[in-house]
Amino acid sequence: MEITRRRFLISLGAVAEGFRTRPTAASVETSLSRFEFTEPHLGTMMKIVLYASDQPAATAASRAAFDRIAALDHIMSDYDAGSELMQLCRAAGGPPVTLSEDLWRVMAAAQDLSEKSNGAFDITVGPVVQLWRRARRRHELPEPERLAAALALVGYQSVILDTKRRTARLLKPGMRLDLGGIAKGDAADQALIVLRRNGIPIALVAAAGDIAAGDPPPGRTDWRIGIEAFESPASPPSEFVGIHNSAVSTSGDSEQNVEIGGVRYSHIINPKTGTALTGRRSATVTAPHDINADCYATALCVMGPERGFKLIARLPGGAALMVQDEAGQIRRRQTARFPALAPLHHSAGADAQ
Ligand code: AMP
Ligand code: MG
Repeated sequence: MEITRRRFLISLGAVAEGFRTRPTAASVETSLSRFEFTEPHLGTMMKIVLYASDQPAATAASRAAFDRIAALDHIMSDYDAGSELMQLCRAAGGPPVTLSEDLWRVMAAAQDLSEKSNGAFDITVGPVVQLWRRARRRHELPEPERLAAALALVGYQSVILDTKRRTARLLKPGMRLDLGGIAKGDAADQALIVLRRNGIPIALVAAAGDIAAGDPPPGRTDWRIGIEAFESPASPPSEFVGIHNSAVSTSGDSEQNVEIGGVRYSHIINPKTGTALTGRRSATVTAPHDINADCYATALCVMGPERGFKLIARLPGGAALMVQDEAGQIRRRQTARFPALAPLHHSAGADAQ
């Protein structure tokens, strides 16, 4: 575990309003330090930023949070043959299987979005994702016959959830579920809950582009999250959102893609056709919980802004930004209430990105 620490003095009773702070009469000096921890989980580097009174408290809380993330990884991973998810897949075509509370929460949220998005988000894309992962490694498009066979196993309607019994039944043998579009957001939410239970309410958990934020840093109204620059993902972000007790997730093809025959293919699949998305786009969603921000951002990439923003309108507390390359023109669209920060705040840098 890597740790960095920065000392921070706050005045209790000071109210932050943008750059101005308004001290109150009963101003009490207290000391909180900023700590940062990083560990590899869920196929990415996970980062926790938190404020605590001392190093032992910070280390203990982050340890508990990372342990929770590792436990979730062991349940949801499709790289781990022993995961609960892969055990469920091996039972495909057979009787219903009782799920743990954790797998139930994630599968129920996934199925809910599949219905609302008319299958744009669909965790049964597993067999097709496997073929595209292979395509990325070999720099060759999947063979049409194999793609057709994989696509025949895709369809969220073949996952039957029984709420009362907390069971799942996969109707077709060979079905393979992939929680890659939702599990990181859920893990960020769950880690934040563990930090709060350990007496750390001021915290942020980032799993690559999936970020859950708790109470804001001392003396500030929000955590500042940088949105990756669409045209130059490697350069520092130039757009920011401000959030607290809320979440933000970005999906797109900037990090995971493959170029074959001059066409750039994303790691996101259109479940109706089995093809990887082409045409550059990114979707950023803010929502009260990261489990939703994560999967809605993936769904928006498939749906595009027109249909996608109607979906966001049905997500309580949800807002979205989409950036797309349309025949060489970069188009940027956002819904009402998207918490973009004014340019004034940019010089301050980001807490995460
Ligand atoms: P994200 O990075 O959150 O957008 O999730 C992308 C990951 O979700 C991919 O790497 C796949 O594992 C999985 N995935 C791809 N396409 C879909 C889809 N249409 N619905 C659900 N999951 C998907
Ligand atoms: Mg996502």
